[in-house]
Amino acid sequence: MFRATTTPAPDKFQIWMTQTWLTLGAAVLAAGFLQAGAHAAARANFTSAHGAKPLALALEPVAPPATGEKVLVWQGKDVDGDGAADFVNPTGQSPRTHDAYGFGAFGASRDGGSRKHEGVDFMAQAGQPVAAPISGYVTKVGMAYADDKHLKFVEITNPAIKYVARVFYIDPSVAEGDVVRLGQDIGAAHGLQTRYPDGMTDHVHLELMGPNQKRMDATAVLSERYVTRFGA
Ligand SMILES: [Zn+2]
Repeated sequence: MFRATTTPAPDKFQIWMTQTWLTLGAAVLAAGFLQAGAHAAARANFTSAHGAKPLALALEPVAPPATGEKVLVWQGKDVDGDGAADFVNPTGQSPRTHDAYGFGAFGASRDGGSRKHEGVDFMAQAGQPVAAPISGYVTKVGMAYADDKHLKFVEITNPAIKYVARVFYIDPSVAEGDVVRLGQDIGAAHGLQTRYPDGMTDHVHLELMGPNQKRMDATAVLSERYVTRFGA
């Protein structure tokens, strides 16, 4: 390192080598970023309602046709007639059926029949990502119960289709004023075992208000159907 050099040539060669390696390194890094970007773009397309169909169509011919498998998927209704779904199941799971605290269906009896359940409870694993059931913007992040700061809800309003969705028991990753797209991750499901320790099924409670501003059964716009899926 501190060796005196008799001619400038080795130094120049060293500088040239260093520059070459730096250039190569930068090229490799740039390629990596490009690839990561392409993957991110593919993921974004896959989760966006409008991008999903063209991507799926483009990929299908590549998949082996022999291993078709019937899978249950949740299909959102298209209420504005643009050919794309306007609703997404927030957890991807079925509604909670019956447990120690009752049924999870819309209109189920609560408090010994004195009131009715005003949402649909979609089963969830505590900590799982929760998807925006409608696109729109976040009009409120609030507390589900005044005495419990851990259980929050996110309200999303979509003035175009005139729907409002409230997604309960999540740790939000969005804030009031944020624009969210259909199916976007808006937070993580919060476990309910602390508040309901005697056998509650963990779930996300979804309240949906339609154009008449009354709470409605979300399964009217979210239905299960079988599709044939190919490959892995
Ligand atoms: Zn509920």
